[in-house]
Amino acid sequence: MSSKSYEEMQNPLHEYREEGYPEQLQKAPGIQKEMNPVPDCGEETYVGHGRLKGRKALVTGGDSGIGRAAAIAYAKEGADVAINYLPSEQKDAEDVAKVIEKAGQKAILIPGDISDEEFCKEMIEEANASLGGLDILALVAGKQVAKEDILEITTEQLTATFTANVFSLFWIVKAAIPYLPEGATIITTSSIQAFQPSPTLVDYAATKSAIVAFTRALAKQLAPKGIRVNSVAPGPIWTALQVSGGQPQEKLPKFGKDTPLKRAGQPVELAAIYVLLASQESSYVTAEVYGVTGGNHTT
Ligand code: NAD
Ligand code: MG
Repeated sequence: MSSKSYEEMQNPLHEYREEGYPEQLQKAPGIQKEMNPVPDCGEETYVGHGRLKGRKALVTGGDSGIGRAAAIAYAKEGADVAINYLPSEQKDAEDVAKVIEKAGQKAILIPGDISDEEFCKEMIEEANASLGGLDILALVAGKQVAKEDILEITTEQLTATFTANVFSLFWIVKAAIPYLPEGATIITTSSIQAFQPSPTLVDYAATKSAIVAFTRALAKQLAPKGIRVNSVAPGPIWTALQVSGGQPQEKLPKFGKDTPLKRAGQPVELAAIYVLLASQESSYVTAEVYGVTGGNHTT
């Protein structure tokens, strides 16, 4: 990986690791700290410019990967940040809290399972109370379990994937709306899989497509309240999800190589998009899906 700051002009082909990744398998949801190599979520590399001064953000899946990169960037841009994650991910979450606090911002840890409607309500209450308000919802948590054959997708897996990826969005947004002020922003996390689905991710791809429709419909519904809603659609990004059942292990050495930029992305490469969509700089952007795909575009 490059030792240059991401702010300096450089060749994106060579900016981060190009050589693929070693095979490895963790139990879902995976611990980022135990990955080889550990993804870059901007802990040292992201530089803030005060773009979210005074804002109050809740980031689901904020312990690791893309959510962690968003949480760290939000803090470095001046926001106080609550993160949600599964209780088994406490170690990763505590590391994120340290980075947020080092940036001079408040960090609130809210472990719990967003597949539970009651928990979603409690999470919003707690985030709102601890932060003294809530005006950015970055909904990044997600579940992905690869299966070669639809016959192997059990009803249990199907239900768990739809509940975590789609139903949770309804529950979280419903609980949050009474607290969100004019100017608040909601960002969901879709995927390249909504547009170019893989044969091994039939259930997951269907949830990501549902998230695109959810985002666009909600954006139109909330526009009169002055609340914007957009989605980020990542391509192949090096995260814990990929080493805990999201990909078959044997695909990891070539993970991301089939993009025009010929490498997987690092979570920090999404951070600025989550910041842009949260900030006032994107005031005329709503109901959009932003691809960050290394070139395998989303439309
Ligand atoms: P990640 O494993 O680092 O993060 C996913 C997080 O989701 C976990 O840390 C976990 O805290 C959370 N989560 C999962 N189920 C949960 C539940 N029931 N309750 C609470 N939290 C739960 O992986 P990531 O790749 O950073 O994933 C973030 C998002 O990006 C997901 O929505 C994923 O679908 C999406 N995405 C990832 C890629 C990629 O290549 N990594 C590509 C497209 C989209
Ligand atoms: Mg995690």
